Amino acid sequence: MLALAAYPLGIKCTFLDRSIDAPAAQVAALVSGELEDPARLAELASRSDVVTFDWENIAGAALAPLESLTTIRPPRYALEVSQDRLQEKALFSRLKIPVAAHAAVDTREDLVRATRALGTPGVLKTRRLGYDGKGQYVVQHTDQAGDAWEHLGGSELIYETFQSFSREVSVIGARSATGAIVYYPLSANTHAGGILRYGVAPFVDESLERTARRYLKRVMDTLEYVGVLTIEFFVVKGRLIANEMAPRVHNSGHWTIDGCVTSQFENHLRAICDLPLGSTRPLGHTAMINFLGCMPSREDLLGIEGLAYHDYGKEPRPGRKLGHCTIVRRNQAQRNGALADALKRIKWS
Ligand code: AMP
Repeated sequence: MLALAAYPLGIKCTFLDRSIDAPAAQVAALVSGELEDPARLAELASRSDVVTFDWENIAGAALAPLESLTTIRPPRYALEVSQDRLQEKALFSRLKIPVAAHAAVDTREDLVRATRALGTPGVLKTRRLGYDGKGQYVVQHTDQAGDAWEHLGGSELIYETFQSFSREVSVIGARSATGAIVYYPLSANTHAGGILRYGVAPFVDESLERTARRYLKRVMDTLEYVGVLTIEFFVVKGRLIANEMAPRVHNSGHWTIDGCVTSQFENHLRAICDLPLGSTRPLGHTAMINFLGCMPSREDLLGIEGLAYHDYGKEPRPGRKLGHCTIVRRNQAQRNGALADALKRIKWS
């Protein structure tokens, strides 16, 4: 999707991926190899004016040598903070952005102590490398601490209180090197089993949107951020609680390809290439649905008026994000009707 946004701007992309079948290889040049292999990274740097990433689990130490060869955007520090849930929460707290009560857990005793001090239910998570609900265990009572430890013990963990949210929302923005920022409308995201199923945008709540933008700006300015940044929040009793941030284009912003004047992908490229940022004005009321595990029938879905179909060309695997579709309508009621229709035609596996 970055390459597709780059093409009309005259920006040539080269991707580094482990697999020669990577989706990017269908539309751009590919260097294949391990993401932290110094020789491959050096090759990528020598071929590039700027290097960016759309996956945040690359060790900062692997990127550090590239900084003398090329420009890395967003900055490595933003990547490193977002790799560790504890550091991420520390940054949010320092910037007065509310987070769930939490504690670091390195031993079984730490976990029992945390469940007693913070209460249950709570979620035990790996501090690193968790995504889409992987590396998480919901602890209903302190006496489940043993089970939770059996599942996840051994790596650095964090225990946080369970948030009874009314909504999950995300805010996405792009910041240029000069400090200019554009914000997309809030998106309301529906997850199941920790994976994003579908989202709607704009989620119209002016007060929440103002607050979310203020928080995003604080993080971006502090990190001297360049590129697209996402923060995911729980809405609890009308208040935003930050869950995590992603220093990259984000699945909850895929709707912007068809639903906004300028997509998150294009604005990420504009930001990292020192081009003026584009308008984030929504074109209507949008729904985005992920294709998980198997692709739905293209013939069937394209029967829905104006539906945009995106197939990433990936091998199907249970739970894997293989593509998405987007529907844009003039008002919320029409959008919700079209969303319900599309959801009936899509199966997740
Ligand atoms: P994460 O990997 O932190 O984004 O978590 C994936 C999903 O699990 C979230 O989008 C929520 O739906 C759910 N989740 C994670 N942490 C919590 C929490 N503290 N309370 C309630 N639900 C959570």
